[in-house]
Amino acid sequence: MSKRDYYEILEVNRNASDTEIKKAYRRLAIKFHPDKNPGDKPAEEKFKELSEAYAVLADAQKRATYDQYGHAGMNGGGFSSGGFDFGGSPFEDIFGDIFGDVFGGGSRRGSSRGQRGDDLRYNLTISFEDAAFGAEKNLQLPRKQACESCNGSGARKGTEAQTCNTCRGQGQVRFQQGFFTMTRPCPDCRGAGKIIADPCPDCHGSGLIKKKRSLSLKIPAGVETDTRLKLSREGEAGAQGGPSGDLYVVITVEDHPIFEREGQDVICEVPISFVQAALGCEIDVPTLEGKVSIKVPAGTQSGKIFKLPGKGIVSLQGYGRGDQMVILRVEVPTKLDARQRELLEEFAAVSGEDIHPLGKGFFDKVKELFG
Ligand SMILES: [Zn+2]
Ligand SMILES: [Zn+2]
Repeated sequence: MSKRDYYEILEVNRNASDTEIKKAYRRLAIKFHPDKNPGDKPAEEKFKELSEAYAVLADAQKRATYDQYGHAGMNGGGFSSGGFDFGGSPFEDIFGDIFGDVFGGGSRRGSSRGQRGDDLRYNLTISFEDAAFGAEKNLQLPRKQACESCNGSGARKGTEAQTCNTCRGQGQVRFQQGFFTMTRPCPDCRGAGKIIADPCPDCHGSGLIKKKRSLSLKIPAGVETDTRLKLSREGEAGAQGGPSGDLYVVITVEDHPIFEREGQDVICEVPISFVQAALGCEIDVPTLEGKVSIKVPAGTQSGKIFKLPGKGIVSLQGYGRGDQMVILRVEVPTKLDARQRELLEEFAAVSGEDIHPLGKGFFDKVKELFG
C-alpha cells in the first residue's frame, strides 16, 4: 500500500515550522474527529492518517529521519502502515497535548515531574429501567483534590517549597554502575524535586485534601451489570501538579420483579389458566413502556413464546433495539371444589382421548418400544 506524504496529509510545505504543523493538525483533526463524524469511515481513516503524520512531524528527530528517508525510515519504528497503534500511547500523547483545551480533557504537559493521581472506582447500582433507557445520576464522591490553602504546593501559605539541592529539582539522581549511568528517585525529596520546610497545616504538606464532590453522570441506555464507564481525569488529583487519575463507574443493575434480560432482549413469563389456554383469550402483558395486548389462540401450549418486536433494550453501541419475549405458562388449578371437579370429570368423560392431543402419540410410541 502506497502511503501519502506526511506533509501533504497535513497540508503544509516541507519547511513548515512546528507551530504551523501543530496548527494544521489541530484544524484538520477537529474537522475529521470521530466525535464529529460518527460512523463516517473515510473521516475515521483521515483522522488516523493525520494522527500518524503528526506523530512523526511533531517530533524533531522523527521528522529529520522522515525528511531523509521518507516512509522507509519510519518502518520498524512503530509507524509502519499496519503498525500504527491508533489507541496506543503515541495517539494519546498527541491527544492530550492538542485537545487538552479543545475538548476539555486535562493537558499532559507540565506534568513530567508531578505524580499522576490514582484511578478511582465507584460502584453504582441502578434500576432495570435506568439501564434500559439511560439516566442521569448525581454522584457524591470523596476524592483527593488540590488543597486550597496552599494551592496544591504543600507549603504553608506565604512560604514556598525549596528546590531540592541533592537533585537540583530533577527529582532523580544519577549514579554509575559499571559502564552505565543509571538514575533513581532522589532520596532526599523522594522524587518530588522540592523540599517543603514549613508544611501546609491543612494538607500536611501533601498538597492534596480529601473532599466530597458532586458529579453528574450520564448513563447511556443499554448498560449492563459490570459495564464500566470511564470518566477521564475525574479520579484523584495528582501530587505536585501531576495529572488526575481516571474515574471508573462500575454498574450493577438491580433485578426486576417481572422482567429478565438476555442481551438486548427482555424476557417476561406470563401465567394463564388452562381454561384460557384451551379456549383462547386476549391478555394484557407488561412491557418496559406500558401494557400491550396479545391474542392467545385457542389450544395454546405452555411455554409458547410471543415476540414483541422492538420492545427490548437499546444497544449500548447506539444501533438497534432488542425484542420482548413473552413466555406463556399454563397453570393447572391446585384446588378444585366439588362442583368444579364434577364438571371436569364430565368433560373428561365426553372427551375421551381428544383432550390429550400430544399424549396419544407419546403413549403409542411407548407401546411400540415396550410392547
Ligand atoms: Zn495545603
Ligand atoms: Zn531531590
